[in-house]
Amino acid sequence: MSILSINTSTGIVTSTNTSQLRIVTQTGSTGWNNNLTNVAQTVGNINRITIHYTGANSDGPVDMTLSGLNATWENPNRPEGAWILPGYHFVIRPNGDVWQIGRINRVSFGAAPHNTNNIHIAVMGLFWDGVSARPRRNDGTLIASARDFAEQQRTALQRLVQGLLTNSTLPRVTGNNHVYGHRHLPGQTTYCPGMTRANVHAAITPVAPPRITVQPESIRRDIGQHANFTVTATGTARSYQWQWRNASGGWQAVLPINGAINMNTRAFTQNNVTANMDGWAYRVVVTNAGGSVTSNIVTLSVGSTYPSTFRISGPNTFVGSLPNSGQIASIGPGGTFRRNGERQLAGNWTWLRGHLSGFSAVDPNRLVWIATTRLERAAGGTECPITDPANFGFTNVRQLPAGPNVGIIPNTISARFRPTGDVQVVNGHRWRLGTIMNTSLPFNNTTLWVATSQFPVNSPCR
Ligand SMILES: [Zn+2]
Repeated sequence: MSILSINTSTGIVTSTNTSQLRIVTQTGSTGWNNNLTNVAQTVGNINRITIHYTGANSDGPVDMTLSGLNATWENPNRPEGAWILPGYHFVIRPNGDVWQIGRINRVSFGAAPHNTNNIHIAVMGLFWDGVSARPRRNDGTLIASARDFAEQQRTALQRLVQGLLTNSTLPRVTGNNHVYGHRHLPGQTTYCPGMTRANVHAAITPVAPPRITVQPESIRRDIGQHANFTVTATGTARSYQWQWRNASGGWQAVLPINGAINMNTRAFTQNNVTANMDGWAYRVVVTNAGGSVTSNIVTLSVGSTYPSTFRISGPNTFVGSLPNSGQIASIGPGGTFRRNGERQLAGNWTWLRGHLSGFSAVDPNRLVWIATTRLERAAGGTECPITDPANFGFTNVRQLPAGPNVGIIPNTISARFRPTGDVQVVNGHRWRLGTIMNTSLPFNNTTLWVATSQFPVNSPCR
């Protein structure tokens, strides 16, 4: 079904879908109402569509005015010489607007002596496919390099020509064999439209929209690792735009910041994932001249889906007078927590330095129960209260950065503690289920600073 409606008595062509193709009638402007010599042609007898560029002194798409068009027609330096009268039925602006400047029931100038029963369409600017003879600008100099239509021009040309080819009021133009580039008509010496006939036909042929054959997949990474999302799609001349959103935001294009690269390729990489990226969603929009397709939505999980492989067997094994160098606390099957006996105070936290050891396998995905608050006995034997049991300081995903106040893991470069929010109270001790993530070093030598109480530094309980 044609996108066009053609009035055979006025020669005016209108679009029936202006979101797809916008035709602006200019035939009433500047006295060109019945352009050329007012020679009539019968719409039903039209048997050719001829594609042109308008020509220009600069290369590529050029937006022109009606008077500017007129000036180029009068230019004696045109390869075919100055025109004596205005030409073309349609011209296509760089923004994709189609101007109808001549009624199609009147003969338009464009490719004498083949103007009768012809519809002339010109694309504004100077173009070259790099294959056919290199065109000259209006000033006679050669175009510098291959230059394609603006994307909107190409789309508009395609829809306009397809609309004409499929319109029942034009029964004699029904396929590519009726569509010519100007220079492909007999006896023409022009370079116009700067492309081979095969490329003219390619330009007017609808492009199939891309199709995704392999969807991207959700993935999980530890903090500091790299997350790679890929998509596989078919379709000519594809472009890619990866998009993201966090829990509260809308979709937006991934920008080349914070370690994101290749967001305009089929394989997007988010380098150095951070805790706050946990739960971010991604998708990719694949586009070509035929349309676009959006992938499934996938998510990036940061250290959040580890299986439970061991737990510290009980908090009581953690309790002891400090410092207590070398004391071993059992932490369940296969593992021990060895306190170094070193204790530091910073902020309101008491930190205990120790090692996790005794595990047979290097496994960064273990879950660990860690005491984050404990009761201590001050020198006088008074049991100090838990001053703020709700605040563990681990309420969000966080790494354990440098300094005892924040919990350094000084022997490693990428180990992290990630609490999952599951809390147990055993024998007056508060334990938090968390995840040790160690992306680069053997787990059994990981050194941890663990907050064991949260009394003020000046408290007798510290
Ligand atoms: Zn031409």
